[in-house]
Amino acid sequence: MNVISNHMPTAELQALDTAHHMHPFTAGAELAKTGARIITGANGVTLTDSEGHQILDAMAGLWCVNIGYGRHELADAAARQMKELPYYNTFFQTSHVPVIALSAKLAELAPNDLNHVFYAGSGSEANDTNIRLVRHYWAIKGQPNKNIIISRKNAYHGSTLGGGSLGGMSGMQNQGVPVIPGIHHIDQPDWWSEGGDKTPEEFGLERARQLEAAILELGADRVGAFIAEPVQGAGGVIIPPSTYWPEIQRICDEHGILLIADEVICGFGRTGHWFGTDYYGIRPHIMAIAKGLSSGYAPIGGSLVCDDVAETIAQAGDFNHGYTYSGHPVACAVALENLRIMQEEKIVENVAQDTGPYLKAKWESLTAHPLVGEAKIVGMMGSIALTPHKESRAKFAADAGTVGLACRTRCFANGLVMRHVGDRMVISPPLVITKAEIDTLIERALLSLDETLEQIKAEGLY
Ligand code: PMP
Repeated sequence: MNVISNHMPTAELQALDTAHHMHPFTAGAELAKTGARIITGANGVTLTDSEGHQILDAMAGLWCVNIGYGRHELADAAARQMKELPYYNTFFQTSHVPVIALSAKLAELAPNDLNHVFYAGSGSEANDTNIRLVRHYWAIKGQPNKNIIISRKNAYHGSTLGGGSLGGMSGMQNQGVPVIPGIHHIDQPDWWSEGGDKTPEEFGLERARQLEAAILELGADRVGAFIAEPVQGAGGVIIPPSTYWPEIQRICDEHGILLIADEVICGFGRTGHWFGTDYYGIRPHIMAIAKGLSSGYAPIGGSLVCDDVAETIAQAGDFNHGYTYSGHPVACAVALENLRIMQEEKIVENVAQDTGPYLKAKWESLTAHPLVGEAKIVGMMGSIALTPHKESRAKFAADAGTVGLACRTRCFANGLVMRHVGDRMVISPPLVITKAEIDTLIERALLSLDETLEQIKAEGLY
């Protein structure tokens, strides 16, 4: 066999890929017909594929490459750490400098008294940890039955059995999850799709109060925690009405329920604040983090834990939980370097004060397009709802996602990665995107929307 490299013809790489590689969240047989797009390099916000195309990555990979591609400082940090101490564990009363330094840095950046970190390799593992933390905490407190966790439909909390059970994605429900008992789902605050005749504010309150109704029905002595993303990401960048989070906070406080904020997407500047909870002014007891922590340069996630929960668990003997790669030194060194760059280059402040408002104005102007109903954005995570009729917020006659997929295909052809969630198009670009690159993003999005409109008119869907 030839040496497999960037120089191999695309078709040969694709054939080997489909022969041996099972892709996540992919219809394998479909992919085998077309072959995967093969990404060979990236710099800033731009990907290069094996055919030499340059593509603007308005998704920052999977919502994670916050500082953009091609930062050699992170590669250097990884190389230095690999040479010094490539691996050692943090079990059995040992520690190492990168994990100590990263934990102190995270305690400094995190809100309130989230001063403690339990590390994982990913966001899914972090949420598995969160299930263990909540149940162990209440058991130590003498309330072992306070073990139900309330989550939301259309939430995404990962793909492990724990994360998948917490999540509420319909597409995952008949494929082996939910399997963890004691998880209860309430409705999401998606006003565009589910708000009916209510104002967004009324609807936000109504959806928040489902949490209270569920607690009263199940019993506050049985409900241990509520978990939610500040802004649902994979669910379609659903930005809740302004009334939602204050009411959720009131309900958690009044009923003595732990609040878990899943910050895997919202964390590390995505909302123009360090964390989504800073943006909404809420006070979680636990936060799941991953993705932007290392800007995706190394796999690392974790749980940020408040003083009360961490100290309660620390007093109760061994916490029999952990991963071989909890606090991996190379991943910690890369995350630290990423955070250093984010702070020194004022990347979060820049999103809040400069590029974020610029993108928001351009993004919201997309509502002038005949296909676009609402256009919503917080910091650098945004979505547009495609609709055949804006006033009634109508859905297309075709299966949900048909038009979204058509639009995504047009975007790719026009050199833009935008993702579709049903018939919503979503963006989450690297936080370092410049104003000129934002102009290009919007131009390519508009062209793709025009072409999608033409196509669906021709197909009788509009
Ligand atoms: N929580 C949220 C909110 C996420 O968006 C994701 C990933 N998209 C996860 C958890 C799971 O993270 P990972 O894929 O790193 O396991």
